[in-house]
Formats: sequence, C-alpha cells, structure tokens
Amino acid sequence: MPISTIASKKWAIPHRPWIISGPCSAETEQQVMTTAQKLAASQKVHLFRAGIWKPRTKPGGFEGVGAVGLEWLSNARAAYGIPITVEVATAKQVVEALKFSVDVLWIGARTTVNPFSVQEIADALKGVNIPVLIKNPLNPDLELWTGAIERMAGAGIEQIGLIHRGFSNYGNTDYRNAPMWHLAIEMKLRHPQLPMINDPSHICGRRDILMEVMQRAVDLDFDGLMIESHPEPEQAWSDANQQVTPDRLIEMLEQVRWRAEDVNSDTFHTALDALRQQINQLDVEMLQLLGRRMQVAEEIGRYKKENNITILQAGRWQEIVENACARGEQVGLSREFITRYLEAVHMESINRQKRILDS
Ligand code: PEP
Ligand code: MN
Repeated sequence: MPISTIASKKWAIPHRPWIISGPCSAETEQQVMTTAQKLAASQKVHLFRAGIWKPRTKPGGFEGVGAVGLEWLSNARAAYGIPITVEVATAKQVVEALKFSVDVLWIGARTTVNPFSVQEIADALKGVNIPVLIKNPLNPDLELWTGAIERMAGAGIEQIGLIHRGFSNYGNTDYRNAPMWHLAIEMKLRHPQLPMINDPSHICGRRDILMEVMQRAVDLDFDGLMIESHPEPEQAWSDANQQVTPDRLIEMLEQVRWRAEDVNSDTFHTALDALRQQINQLDVEMLQLLGRRMQVAEEIGRYKKENNITILQAGRWQEIVENACARGEQVGLSREFITRYLEAVHMESINRQKRILDS
C-alpha cells in the first residue's frame, strides 16, 4: 500500500515545537532522575529521551545499560510526569520497551539503513498504537528513509515522525554529520503529513555550534528539536562532546528566535522559500567542496615541488575536461559551461600550486 493512503492524516504532535531531550545514554538511575527532574521542571521539554541499547561503531565501547534503563525511565516519568522515549533496533527491544509502556519509540540512523531491521521492528509493532520517530539513514538516501516510513505505516503505525540528524560524510567538515538541509526539506515536501524534528546534537557532534543549527532548524519551520543533555556532559559515557547540561539546554531554548512570531508564516513556508533554502545549502556545500579541492591541489603542488615536476601536464588536463564533460552531460550541463567552470577552477589551482613551487 502506498504511504499516501496509509498515513495521510497529519497527526497532532503534543506540542509545537516539540522539544525532546535527555542523555545520549542512560548511565545510572541517579543520572536519569537528575536530568529528567531538571528538564521536566523547566516545562520547556516535552519528552524525555535516553538510549539504553547503544549501537556503537566499534565493539568494546559502552553498549548501553540495557533493559534496566527502562525501569529508571519509567521511575522518572512517574516522579516528574514527563513522557519517555527510547531507541529500538530489534524486535526484542520493542517487546521490552512496550512492557514499560514507553510513550514514543525512535529508530536510529544505523537501523534505518537496514530494511531487514526496520521490517523486524515493524512486525513487532503490528497492532500497537504508539508514535514512532524515524531518524534519517546514515547515508543521504531519501528512498531508504521513505522505505522505513512505508514499513511502519504498513504495520499500522499512524503516528510517524521524522528526525533529521544529518548524514555521514567522508573527510572533515564542521559537522559530525553533514546536515544537507536540502534533503530534509525535500523530505518535508514529499511527506507534508509527517512532523519533522531536527537533532542538532548528532549533526554538530560538538557543543559550540549547537545553537546555530537549532536556529537554522527553527528558521526552516521544523516541528521540533531533539537535543542531548547530561548533568555532567564531559563525563558522559557516550557522545560527551555534544551534550549540554539541562541548564544550558534551557538557556539555549530561551535564546532561539522562534520565527512564528515575527515572520509571516504563510509566505515564509511556501515551496519557493524551501527551494531557495535548497539553493543556499547547495551553494554552501559546493563552496566547501571547492575549498577541499583546492587543498588537495596544494598537496599535489607540494609533491610536485619535492619531486621537481612541472605544474602543467597537458594529458592530465585533457583527461579532467573529458571526464567532467561526460559526467556533466549526464546531468544536463553543457560542454561549454563545464569547460568555463573547469577553466576557472583550474586557474585557481595552478595559481596555488605556483605559489607553493615558488616558495
Ligand atoms: C542517539 O540518538 O543517541 C543516536 C545513537 O543517534 P543516531 O541514530 O542519530 O546516531
Ligand atoms: Mn548520542
């Protein structure tokens, strides 16, 4: 069944913006209780998160406290009246979470990439009425993300939300996971009935730039934010660099400029604006790539200097032009445009290499 017929109603999220916070991982009952108490008391956070099963890139890291964490979370809910959410990656974890009547489930980025796992979770959720938030897959593949929506909808889940947490990228950028905002916008346009939450913590991977990503998400009319908080972020057992104290989180939520108040939302949220945001984002990414290309050119320059090779090698230049024109044609870019573009890029590369050879 196509998604449009299954989950076509926009469900009412409990708050807008919907603010979700809590530690990356539940570590101790004390840590869970302290964090939940502060967040709930602020009245600015509506859902308490904590990972209890942690998918780690490499074995040997902290893999989560496991099911005992569910008791801690439900104790926190009972004590402070804040609903709770955990990440699930297997059918067994779904069953455990449901035993504790967890209010919302989320599917992590490492799970969304795997249709077998997503289907297993969907099967375990058949007939269960619970909101499920689906993080984007690690790789920038909207079909995979959409596939996960369809699997959840196919299991009868009616309250599906999306979490944009950025995409793995090769090489260093400012971000732990490249936001690729245009993909989140594209997904919003494709699935306007699904709330879209932004997760600045996993995009940034560091505390100092959280605020600007939060603001960006608010400006792009996201429906909520998921941000990690921990009473002692530096001591956290996972994701220590990106967590903030509950106090800092509350301060940031106070500082964000919630746009609905000062922007004419009717015009701001038009598709045209979304497209302009896409253009801006693509320009940022192209400039970053160009910067990286120039760095590689400079490295080549240093190599040429050490080995006493000339800057310009005609054969190599022809190869670059031919490859680019062939690729350009496939995506509808004219030979004339590609050539002019490459000449400009190449001239800049040569100038940089020349500076290195002359130095
Ligand atoms: C998390 O939320 O702690 C987490 C593991 O996130 P992600 O799936 O986005 O990496
Ligand atoms: Mn985390």
